[in-house]
Amino acid sequence: MDQPTPSVWNDTPSLQERIVSAISRISSVMRGGMWQFATQEGLNPAQADMLQLLLSRREGVRLSWLAQQLAISPASASDSVSALVNKGLVQKARAADDGRAVALLLTQAGVELAQRASQSLLFAGDAVSALPPATQEALLSGLLQLIGQLQRNERFPEIRACVTCRHFQSNRHADAEAPHHCGLVDAPLPVRLLRLDCPEHAAADASVQGDNWRALLPIDN
Ligand code: SF4
Repeated sequence: MDQPTPSVWNDTPSLQERIVSAISRISSVMRGGMWQFATQEGLNPAQADMLQLLLSRREGVRLSWLAQQLAISPASASDSVSALVNKGLVQKARAADDGRAVALLLTQAGVELAQRASQSLLFAGDAVSALPPATQEALLSGLLQLIGQLQRNERFPEIRACVTCRHFQSNRHADAEAPHHCGLVDAPLPVRLLRLDCPEHAAADASVQGDNWRALLPIDN
């Protein structure tokens, strides 16, 4: 039975508030590292974020996708893309799936700059690496659950995560270490290897995605 909270802690913000505050603080620190690099390179924050997104989508993306991922208006996204094109970091090409549509891709100079920008976040990776492996896995699992909840509330953009992939089969194995399965490579998929941005991802139907989130990450409705 839960013990009542001593009154001396009455002013403590709720658990939810402190979790959101911690995520927000971590996000600010990481953005600070990225923006410091961006400023040195003459980029604004949105342009730096676009380079990072395009680095993971070498096949090219639409302007609308960039705007959605960054939660900015199409007009703002267009301004940032124009600046990146003028700097020789982004190029426009015909979309492979629709010859009338425009795909945005990094130039070689853009790839090199985006890769150097990624280095500015190494300090965060080092901090995560210093945590015990079990804590790292619990953190990944908890963050995935939070992303799942945000997606259910339509507050998180599309991602190429295992849980939203049609190759993903949740809880197919009895092995607690590797309960899931990737049908593409036909192999067990441990929680610690669940991906957030897999190039082989193929979106599952929305109802299947919902089932996967619920099966994998039980969330109170
Ligand atoms: S194809 Fe990629 S995203 Fe899909 S289940 Fe396999 S590893 Fe995950």
